[in-house]
Amino acid sequence: MSWCEYSTDRELRVRSVPLGTLKWMISGGVFLYMCAILFTEKRYQKKEPVISSVHTKVKGVLEVDSSIWDPAEYTVPSPGGSSFFVVTNIVKTENQKEDICAEYPSRKTICSQDSICKKGHADTHSNGIQTGRCVKYNNTHKTCEVRAWCPVESKTTPEPAILASAENFTVLIKNTIHFAALGYTRKNILPEYNVSCKYNKVTAPRCPIFRLGDILSAAGEKFSQVAILGGIMGIEINWNCDLDPWAFSCHPQYSFRRLDDKAVDESLFPGLSFRFARHYKAQDQTERRTLIKANGIRFDIQVYGTGGQFRFLELVIFIGSYLSYFGLATVVIDFLISQYYKGCCSPNSGQRYYDEQKYKEIQGPSILTSCLDLMFVSFVDQDDIILIDKKLRRSLQETKGHKIKRGAFTSREIFRRIEDPGAIGIELLPVTTKALSKASAIPAWCQCLKCHKEKEFENQLCCRSKKGECITNSDMFKKLVLDRHTLVYILQYNDPLLNTHSIVSEKLVKCAEEQYIQWRFGSNKDILAFSKVPSCCKFEIRNAFDSNIQETLLHAKEQSASDASQTPLLKQHH
Ligand code: ZN
Ligand code: ZN
Repeated sequence: MSWCEYSTDRELRVRSVPLGTLKWMISGGVFLYMCAILFTEKRYQKKEPVISSVHTKVKGVLEVDSSIWDPAEYTVPSPGGSSFFVVTNIVKTENQKEDICAEYPSRKTICSQDSICKKGHADTHSNGIQTGRCVKYNNTHKTCEVRAWCPVESKTTPEPAILASAENFTVLIKNTIHFAALGYTRKNILPEYNVSCKYNKVTAPRCPIFRLGDILSAAGEKFSQVAILGGIMGIEINWNCDLDPWAFSCHPQYSFRRLDDKAVDESLFPGLSFRFARHYKAQDQTERRTLIKANGIRFDIQVYGTGGQFRFLELVIFIGSYLSYFGLATVVIDFLISQYYKGCCSPNSGQRYYDEQKYKEIQGPSILTSCLDLMFVSFVDQDDIILIDKKLRRSLQETKGHKIKRGAFTSREIFRRIEDPGAIGIELLPVTTKALSKASAIPAWCQCLKCHKEKEFENQLCCRSKKGECITNSDMFKKLVLDRHTLVYILQYNDPLLNTHSIVSEKLVKCAEEQYIQWRFGSNKDILAFSKVPSCCKFEIRNAFDSNIQETLLHAKEQSASDASQTPLLKQHH
């Protein structure tokens, strides 16, 4: 990696009218969808949930049985503030004192004789503790006698509800909302609304004063019905605020619904009720009380909503999140191409052509370890090249690797020239090979019997995988690798002004090894640098162009040639 480099992805451009049209249609569709979402859902805005406070005030007075009911009598404020309770029905039991009296008749308390009643018994529905006697409750029933606040409360709830006309009461809801991150505060009571308005969904949708009967009818309930046993109503205030100056809107929307389940079986205590008592001292100094069971409707106010305002960062994030969908076209088109060529297994199939253009295949590492060595090996008795990507722990010859197809050999031009030595402007020189001192032991990994001892594992490589004749004995090796004319020709091909009189033998050795690699591994440039030359070939090349022997030989020969002409090369060419 370098600071002076920049790398990009390389892409394949497929020339095709239908695929091109499809790509633009998909990209266009994605773009339109993105714009639609952006503007309909205002995704360029920063959104924030509402924080709110609610305060309520119920108003209305009515007279029932010559007693006056004002807000202090019929409302019970809740500590939460966002709900209020209005009493709609009461069961009043007056002048109670601690005494002994007949229990209220029910399936468990009706009796015919004393033995049915148990002394000291009381259950969850009892008004008092049984004394064990059966006494007369009224003309039709006898019940167990209890010690309790007497007379016991009558369990029948009046119908219609005593305070049924509470539906004409009104409630003023004061609601202040705040969007902290956007720094915006607003109230539901605006200066332009007068205090005598009354909410109506159509004619006065912003008025904060509600008639209780209207709240119930908006939720599809009848006030006179709910008033008998009580219930829970929800008042929902929805604030959806657009705080952008070009599209400002921030108004509450009210909606109503019943929160408790009116369908529950009567025996499971439907409605909403509670009891309270007012104590006083009677004239005979005994403590007396008035017990009141109150049924009523609780109104819960729920405020929710979001505020949104344009933020450049939100817009950037939104666009960024949708950019990846433009890649959908590539996925779809690749899928279509693969479907189009599906089942074509012939070597001429279009899929193969497409794949070869699109993918470059390489062998992945066989094990995941750092500092892997990578080497390519070619044996004369095997068709494939072998890739070895391991730290060598034994000779390269004995290390296992993956097989890879050999690339095509493209040095045909050189072949042609060699067929016609006259075309090369150099006189053929005899190749003198130094006598091989094969007296020393042949290493165990050698299969051709011509390799030498090597220190490094990576140099312990033979030209064969199984026992047989050495590649250096072949005619082709002599022509392509060891032939001085071929090598000089290649060196001149690369450097046309090369002085043939002073070619260093190192250069010839290097060129010969490159010749060998190109011949055996193909002209795939990517693997040339990693390809290994077998020990026998290396030795043979060194031997052929050993500087000590060869330099003198070459000089003597060239000397005599230059005597005849200053430029033997050119002369012979003409
Ligand atoms: Zn060998
Ligand atoms: Zn060999």
